[in-house]
This record gives sequence, C-alpha cells and structure tokens, in this order.
Amino acid sequence: MSNDALKNAARILGQARLAIAFTGAGISVESGIPPFRGPGGIWSRYDPEKFEKNYFRQHPEEVWPLLRKIFFDELARAEPNPAHQALALLEDMGRLAAVITQNIDGLHQAAGSRTVYEYHGSTRRMQCMDCRMFFDSASISLETLPPPCPNCGGLLKPDFVFFSEAIPFDVHTEATRLAKKADVCLVVGTCGEVMPAGRIPRVAANAGATVIEINVQETGYTRGTTDIFLQGKAGTMLPMLVEEVVGRHA
Ligand code: NAD
Ligand code: ZN
Repeated sequence: MSNDALKNAARILGQARLAIAFTGAGISVESGIPPFRGPGGIWSRYDPEKFEKNYFRQHPEEVWPLLRKIFFDELARAEPNPAHQALALLEDMGRLAAVITQNIDGLHQAAGSRTVYEYHGSTRRMQCMDCRMFFDSASISLETLPPPCPNCGGLLKPDFVFFSEAIPFDVHTEATRLAKKADVCLVVGTCGEVMPAGRIPRVAANAGATVIEINVQETGYTRGTTDIFLQGKAGTMLPMLVEEVVGRHA
C-alpha cells in the first residue's frame, strides 16, 4: 500500500457528500473475536447445523449451552478497538452517514457509533419465539438454560440471524437505499461472500460511489469493485485514514 493511496482515500473521504462504511468480522478480529471461517474460526470448531432455526426450536436444551459459550461468554468480553473508534469519530465529524455491519457483536455502538444497521442482528437483544417480545440480553440470566421468556415463559432466541432465517427487512431496505445514495463506500474487514449483505458495496459502486477497501488480504471486491485498496489491519489502517481526514479539516 502506497502512502499516495492513503492520501488519495483521505481526500475522497474528506470531500464525500454521503459516505457509508460496510464492515465484517475482520474489523473485530483485533478485539479478540475470531472470524467465522478459516483456521480458528467458529465454524471450524462448531457444527453450523446447530444454529439452524428449526433445529434450535426443536433442541433448545442442546443449542443454548453452545450459544452461551460462543456468543455470550466469548463475545461479551470483547471491547471495541481503534478501528471501531475511528468510524465513530468519523461520524462525529459529520463525515460518515452510517455503518452497515454484518457483525453481531455490538462493538460499533460500544465505540460510540450512533447510526448502525445490523444486517445480521445482534447478540445484545433476545426475542421470544412465542410472544415475539424483545429483551435486552443483559437483563436475561443465563444461569439456567434455556432461559425462559420473562413475559410468557416461552423460548428466547438471540436476535441474530440464524441459518434459514430471513434478513431483517427494514435493515436491508434502508442499507440498500443508503448504498444507492452514497458517493463513498468504505469496506472494512469482510470477504463479502455472505449474501445478500455482500452486495452492498457493489450496489454503491454501480450507483457511482468510490469504494475504499481495507483488508489484510485481497477479497472478491478488490479487483472488480474496489477503487482504492488499503492493505493492512483495520486497527492500524482506519485510524491512519481518519487521522489524515482530520488533518485536512483541521
Ligand atoms: P469473514 O470471516 O468471512 O471474513 C473476514 C475478513 O476479514 C477476511 O476478508 C479477512 O481477510 C479480513 N480480516 C481478518 N483480520 C483482519 C484485520 N485485522 N483487519 C482487516 N481485515 C481483516 O467475515 P465476513 O465477511 O464478515 O462474514 C462472516 C459472517 O459471519 C458475517 O455474516 C458476520 O455476521 C458473521 N460474523 C460476525 C462476527 C462478529 O460479530 N464479530 C464474527 C465472525 C463472523
Ligand atoms: Zn414470550
């Protein structure tokens, strides 16, 4: 990655009319959350079939201990890293309209980002599969599993998208609308293979946006969709990029 690429990206981001960020598991790796695929990834350690909605409904006493271990014990301890913080700062400066994330860890909000579209839901909420009420995960005790719904005693499910479950319609609609309006799309730490979320950068590019990508390695976007590729860790590259934007506006 050349210094020119960074400066060029900062200039374009600094002049953006409407910039959005599209993030994936890679932005949370430096917070200690492994990506789902590849060595050490969650799907190399657990059977994805267990996180299929109907399987969960039929075997909650088998699946809940796994959910607690992976998504509450491990993820709940993670804290935002400088990449999440850089995006929050960019929004504060009025230079970023929204973060569209595939992550379910809530770390963008924990870093201070206010406009966050969670494509795959969040571990921070639970929904009752019987009465449909929502609860803050922090208010639900996980000492006895499955935890009963405080309202009706029914089955609580973490409010992230399970396999065979639909993407939240309003999030998809709003994220697509923003992608069509954006003139800059920052793509951070995602291989972009999970659909339909992975289409967001292409929707933005097709509508004329400049795509700036940060990743430790090339992805399916890099050669076709990306205009400026900044190779490196999100926790290093994003703060450098944002610092450069701040410098231009100081
Ligand atoms: P992925 O695991 O398929 O790909 C991760 C990408 O991040 C890769 O392209 C990799 O090269 C890159 N990467 C790894 N370390 C990086 C770093 N330090 N800096 C920058 N880039 C780095 O992730 P995905 O594309 O987001 O798709 C996986 C799916 O799993 C998503 O749908 C998401 O919902 C879910 N997921 C969420 C979390 C989370 O909430 N933190 C974690 C894992 C997976
Ligand atoms: Zn209920």
